[in-house]
Amino acid sequence: MTTRNHPPRDGAGDGPTAQRMLRGLGVSAGIAIGPAHVMEAGALQVPEYCLAADGVAEEVARFHEAVDKARRQIGKLKSKAGSLPADAASDIAILLDAHQAMLSGSRLIRGVERRIREERQNAELAVQQEITVLAQSFAAMDDAYLAARVADVREVGRRLIRNLMETPYQAFSRLPDGAIILAEELSPSDTALLDPRRIGGFATVLGGAEGHTAIMARSLGLPAVLGAAGLLQGVQTGDLVVIDGRAGRVLINPPADVLADYRQRRSLWRAEREQLKAMAGLASVTRDGAAITLHANLELPRELDGARDGGAGGIGLLRTEFLYMNRDDLPGEEEQYEVLRDLVIAMEGRPVTARTLDVGGEKLAGALADRFATPANPALGLRAIRLGLKEPKLLEAQLAAMLRASAHGPLRILVPMISQPSEMRRVRELLRAVARRLVRRGHAIADPLPPLGAMIEIPGAALAADSLASVSDFFAIGTNDLIQYTLAIDRGDEQVAYLYDPLHPAVLRLVQFAVDAARRAKIPVSVCGEMAGDARYAALLLGLGVRELSMAPAHLPLVKRRVRGLDLGEATRRADMIMGQTDGDRIAALLDDFNEALG
Ligand code: PEP
Ligand code: MG
Repeated sequence: MTTRNHPPRDGAGDGPTAQRMLRGLGVSAGIAIGPAHVMEAGALQVPEYCLAADGVAEEVARFHEAVDKARRQIGKLKSKAGSLPADAASDIAILLDAHQAMLSGSRLIRGVERRIREERQNAELAVQQEITVLAQSFAAMDDAYLAARVADVREVGRRLIRNLMETPYQAFSRLPDGAIILAEELSPSDTALLDPRRIGGFATVLGGAEGHTAIMARSLGLPAVLGAAGLLQGVQTGDLVVIDGRAGRVLINPPADVLADYRQRRSLWRAEREQLKAMAGLASVTRDGAAITLHANLELPRELDGARDGGAGGIGLLRTEFLYMNRDDLPGEEEQYEVLRDLVIAMEGRPVTARTLDVGGEKLAGALADRFATPANPALGLRAIRLGLKEPKLLEAQLAAMLRASAHGPLRILVPMISQPSEMRRVRELLRAVARRLVRRGHAIADPLPPLGAMIEIPGAALAADSLASVSDFFAIGTNDLIQYTLAIDRGDEQVAYLYDPLHPAVLRLVQFAVDAARRAKIPVSVCGEMAGDARYAALLLGLGVRELSMAPAHLPLVKRRVRGLDLGEATRRADMIMGQTDGDRIAALLDDFNEALG
């Protein structure tokens, strides 16, 4: 990984970059001002090994997967470029077309294949060597056009190697304080490496508002803008950048008056954050005296302080994927137990809801990626509990760690992507078998066993919530995936982000279905998708009968302020009125009226 500090090929020279303003999706509110750090995959340390004769075909297939992924990435970048002014759009399109051409039937592809087949080189090494030879031969040609293509060849090579290695950016720890990261794309694993005490914020060209990178930004309280077309054209490391994470704006080298205005806004934002801290000590009760449980979602254990400072009554969703990120092996039972135990102890009697592994789709775990081919439709494929039930050893290690942690304080176990009662039954059988084994081994575990809950995040699960309620101890409604699957909108794709609508009548009806089923079965139900952390939606969710909301720690004070200002009877009446509507715009208008009335 390197940082780019050279001007782009069509840049205006070595001087400071021109002023520019870019628009994208404001995914995490707040203002950050700081020096840019432009990230790109650099000269990566590639593994080198000799393939066994029977491993060649598999390696060629792995190489082709990386090529296909690169083509898709470039295709996405190209459609993003369409939203830029005409000149910039056509320059970028020409460049990306050249990159695309290098990926189909080209000398590069043939050369890499030959190295894998004949020299038995691993794919990363084969790409690196072929790129070096190609770049040398281009540079040696007495042709200015081809000489200029050397940079493109190297860029395509870096993209392929990065895809093959699934390498996260490594150098965030070496950035100057307050740096603002500008990148083509940050994966959730990349984002997990950002330290909010040192990094100011970030912006990317690709990424949707509800993908895990956006969720991670909100969790870390880092101002962020995703999906900003043209972001990396003509920007250099060291340029002064402003990120406006609410409005979705990125300003490069803004003029002095604009900068002064943003500095003032940043002070106001920081002051408001300080003021809201006072909320932590106040009770979460509505004006008419109903207690509402507010919990925190944790992506990483280091957010625990934020959750406690925000007055979280518990952890409503612990995403355990962090245990699998940025490493090549899998965590064992002992390691997972120690992490969970520390969290349970740190919460001092407040419940921790630990979710079993939810990888697949856009959330990839390095060590697992090698074992399973990428399905054509990752969001619908072998992921989450489906993967856990296919690989019971993996799931059993998690369940064992959770059961052992349950001896130290209240813990609930949550299962993602449930679509059938049989999946819950199977998980419960495994849980009981693991518990018996642990007791035989002399481990302490909670008695009775921890509650086992189902995530309701598949439309079919919401519609059949009655049958799931009969096999679950609680429900947690995951609105992020529920919206994605109901509306067929990839939550991580900025190109369709405008259709991602939490207020779509279909989504609200599914939420209501699940809440009503839980009430009939007398089991607790929470909402832990991003909707729960948005004060605008919180009022509606309470009106629908939800009494437990779980959200990024940074959102706790805002939602609590809304809870304390609201009358539950009035919220129920307004929600009834909203649920009688069939038009999304009308629903949004009625909800805005309600929120305005709350002040
Ligand atoms: C959800 O889908 O709403 C959810 C909470 O889970 P995740 O965002 O981790 O998929
Ligand atoms: Mg989900």
